[in-house]
Amino acid sequence: MLNDFTNEPLLNFNNRFVIDKFRSTLNQVGAKLGQYYPLIIHGEEIYTVEKITSIDPSCNSQVVGYVGKASAELAELALSSAEQTFRMWSKVEPQERADYLFKAAAIMREKKYELSSWLVYEAGKNWAEADADTAEAIDFLEFYGREMYRLAGPQPLVKTPGEHNELIYIPLGVGVVIPPWNFPLAIMAGMTAAAIVAGNTVVLKPASNTPVIAAIFMNILREAGLPDGVVNYLPGSGGAIGDYLVTSPRTRFINFTGSKEVGLRINELAAKTVKGQHHIKRVSAEMGGKDAIVVDSTADLEAAATAITVSAFGYQGQKCSACSRAIIVQDVYDQVVQSVVEKTSKFTIGAAIDNHPVGPVIDKSSLNRIKSYIAIGKKEGKLLLGGNTLESLGGYYLQPTIFGDVSPDAVIAQEEIFGPVLAFIKAKDYNHALEIANNTEYGLTGAVFARDHRKLEMARSKYHVGNLYFNRKCTGALVGVHPFGGFNMSGTNSKAGGRDYLLIFLQSKVISEKY
Ligand code: GLU
Repeated sequence: MLNDFTNEPLLNFNNRFVIDKFRSTLNQVGAKLGQYYPLIIHGEEIYTVEKITSIDPSCNSQVVGYVGKASAELAELALSSAEQTFRMWSKVEPQERADYLFKAAAIMREKKYELSSWLVYEAGKNWAEADADTAEAIDFLEFYGREMYRLAGPQPLVKTPGEHNELIYIPLGVGVVIPPWNFPLAIMAGMTAAAIVAGNTVVLKPASNTPVIAAIFMNILREAGLPDGVVNYLPGSGGAIGDYLVTSPRTRFINFTGSKEVGLRINELAAKTVKGQHHIKRVSAEMGGKDAIVVDSTADLEAAATAITVSAFGYQGQKCSACSRAIIVQDVYDQVVQSVVEKTSKFTIGAAIDNHPVGPVIDKSSLNRIKSYIAIGKKEGKLLLGGNTLESLGGYYLQPTIFGDVSPDAVIAQEEIFGPVLAFIKAKDYNHALEIANNTEYGLTGAVFARDHRKLEMARSKYHVGNLYFNRKCTGALVGVHPFGGFNMSGTNSKAGGRDYLLIFLQSKVISEKY
């Protein structure tokens, strides 16, 4: 009997023992930087001449590691390995498949500090953000394992006389998993684990900014005894292998999380039937957000300001759930703005290993993109805080940046910036605030602060986002508690960490026997 799912507890960074252990693990992992991780296809390690270099965004002269770089030929090899392994893996009992996830979760729990340390170096996450990423990865494995147990059991059907009916879930086939770099352990592991526990085999193309943590996860799956070829680790560039994998007739489904541009492109490419293809490809694409926190005049303004600050600048705003718009009803606008500016100005900025509240953004091109949005923001609104890059610190640093008096239609109020930039928008009243909140092409997360419960009730139906939060921050969805995924251009609403998620990787078969 399985015990019920519970969320992995987070580390307490006020505890001396935890702090010391985290620091010493960071040192141990620091000594392992710069190694080379090969591709893994059907259990075989393949060292390529060309490599991808993973850089520490906090200190861009530091190499976190090198990984192999696949060509189209190797992508083909990985797809055929996955296809071949599918014949075996799809017949393994669902519970046995789930048990590999539980085993991997147990190994990850043992290596918790180590995994989080890798995230500090490779993704530029401060300690708490790194720990939350690792905890969420463990949660995904534990949750999806249990989900597979549930779906492997009898499924309810209406009874009819003279016939016995049964519905079973079977896997789809070969999947291509393309995860993002911003939750390089949690989302990568969750997207992969869900696909394989459902009985599919996978080609995992990790994000090119964070391929080392994916290689480490791959090795954990091997340590857990996962058969060769169930997951094939295939780092490579989007140009060289991304399209190849998506358009292959062997590919049955694509599980993507990342930018809207790439997600829409994958969706288009996957929609085209190619020679030798016997199925319609399924695409799960979780993309961007332009998430807002709405503050009503009845709100606890202090709590609202704290939530805005945390949601906007946690992990430098590099979450699709991040608050990039704060929409404030006019009579409390000045107070909330002042409080957020005050709180944000206290943040120190620096290397993730030193655990600053604000660290670097992921790479140079991100830094440049955010910089150009800040330049636009300077024309569209009033710069209230920040606005500068701090590259002299040796990494991809930017000051947390706040703009006031931004119009709802401004570029910085419409386009996803994916960085530490917050736009304040003044609303005439609460209704107007909700209108502004809905006025983007996205619909991922949103929060409302109000003490008046009728206001919250109004938002419940009017505010069109997949994850709506009342009187709390709009980031930090917990597996099983807040199934995560949005509407409109935010994606296919796949609801990671929820009861519907595994169905994306399954198809159902009904067997009817007359008696
Ligand atoms: N699930 C995360 C959260 O609730 C965000 C995931 C993402 O940025 O892709 O904050």
